[in-house]
Formats: sequence, C-alpha cells, structure tokens
Amino acid sequence: MKKYALPSLMLAVFEAVAITLWLTKDNLFYLFNFSYIGLSLSLGIFLFIRKYKHARRIVQLLVGLYMLIYLGLISGENMQIEGFWYYLFTGVFEAATIHYAVAKILGPLIFGRGWCGYACWTAMVLDFLPYKTPAQPRKKIGWIQYLTFAASLIFVSALFLAHVGNLERVMFWAFIVGNALYYAVGIGLAFAFQDNRAFCKYICPITVFLKPMSYFSLLRIKCDKEKCVSCGKCRRVCPMHVDVTDNSRKRENGTECILCMECVRNCPKKAL
Ligand code: SF4
Ligand code: SF4
Ligand code: SF4
Repeated sequence: MKKYALPSLMLAVFEAVAITLWLTKDNLFYLFNFSYIGLSLSLGIFLFIRKYKHARRIVQLLVGLYMLIYLGLISGENMQIEGFWYYLFTGVFEAATIHYAVAKILGPLIFGRGWCGYACWTAMVLDFLPYKTPAQPRKKIGWIQYLTFAASLIFVSALFLAHVGNLERVMFWAFIVGNALYYAVGIGLAFAFQDNRAFCKYICPITVFLKPMSYFSLLRIKCDKEKCVSCGKCRRVCPMHVDVTDNSRKRENGTECILCMECVRNCPKKAL
C-alpha cells in the first residue's frame, strides 16, 4: 500500500484546497473544480505506478480539455497569464488568480512543474507532435520568455490605463486569440527546432513564475548513485535537457523538469 501514498497525498492536498475554497468563498464550484483536478492527477499517478504507458497523457487530456473547453470557452474565464493580471488588477481573488496561486506560484513548491507535465492545455497538443525527444541541443534564447511575460503585463496594463470598456469580453477574446497564437507558434517552433517542447523552453511567459518556485520543489526525481552506471539514457530521453543524475538543486536545467517520468521509465538500472 506504501506505493500508493503519493496519489493519496495528491488527492488529500487538492481536497483540502477544494474544501477550504468552497467554505471560504461560499462557492460550490471550487469543490467541484479542485476535486476533479485532484482526482485526475491521482488517477494518473496511480496508473503510472501500475505501469500504464499512457498515464500522463490521460491526465493531460482530462485536465487540459476541462480547463480549455469548460473553464475557458464555455465559462468564459481567461486562465492565461493575461487573465491573471486582469483579476489581480481588479483586486479579485477568483478564477485565474486562484489558479495561478495554486498551480503556478505556490503549488510548484510542492510538485515543481507538474502543471507543465500533466495539466497544461498548450503542451497537451504539443506533446502529440513527433519530436518527443529534442533532436538538437538547447538554444540560448530563453530570454524571450521575459519579453512575452512583459508583453502580457503591458497589454493588460494598457487596457486599464486606456479605460477600455467591457473588459470581461475583451479578456474572453484575448483568451481565444492568445491560445490560437500559442498553438501556432508552439507547433511552428516544434517543427523548426525538432523539439515538441521548444515553446515551453523559449517562449512561454508562465515559466517566469514556474522556474524560481520549482527550484525549491519538494517532489524531485533523484538518482541512486550506487545503481547508476552513467549510460546517459535518462539524458537522451528527457524532453527538457535535465541532468537528472545530479542530485543537487543546481542540476543543469533542473527547474525545467516537468516530472514526465520518461527518465525513470527508461533507466535500465532502476536508479531513478
Ligand atoms: S512551459 Fe508554459 S506552455 Fe509549456 S507546459 Fe508549462 S505552462 Fe504550458
Ligand atoms: S539511465 Fe539510469 S543508469 Fe543510465 S545514467 Fe541515467 S540514472 Fe544512470
Ligand atoms: S525525463 Fe525526467 S528529468 Fe526529464 S523532464 Fe521528465 S522527469 Fe524530468
């Protein structure tokens, strides 16, 4: 039973968030929302423990489609970074601000960039592309992420400064156009760099939050040096160029780890 401790812990954490928000905000939606996400994540970890090959993809689809279609398109919540700035500026702790606090700012202290591996609806599509393992070395253009981060902040600030009317509607369309752009750029870059996750590495503005917080992540892949034979397979299959054999927090590209478990699955010595 010990091996099922992690999915149980994940479920307990999300249930605690679900119940706390439900009671403090007096809104049943939070109970449904966080229970659903917690259940999906726990199911994925459970399936992974049972060695089901597509466990991660199932979670990605369950959570990603729910957020994109139900929360974004049907409920009209902009869960992109622009939505976060929007709710932050209006001083409302709702929707995107709660989502960012849980999944992208505080959550990574516990589960690192699990969001990127199991829930992001952009990566959900990118992971279907053919370049699961990068065919080229990592490029030194990660600074673009800071530009896109600044652009999202400037865009929403400008809307407020210009007193643009019907901001709710504007944010809905920003969500549609933003997502279309993300998919177009993400797919284009994946083919150009032969790397499904090129968008995550070089363009995505959310990594400005995710990277520093995930540096302190409680959940990390660790290497048993006694078992490791330095074959390098973990490095070759890693979509994010992480040197997972180095156990220090300063490991190369350590804050890029999306906990996809490809290294764990492929290690011939079960050292990870
Ligand atoms: S880096 Fe950005 S696009 Fe990539 S998975 Fe994470 S949040 Fe999604
Ligand atoms: S795949 Fe396993 S044995 Fe090979 S280098 Fe990585 S941790 Fe070591
Ligand atoms: S292959 Fe391993 S080190 Fe690389 S992102 Fe996935 S879990 Fe992290």
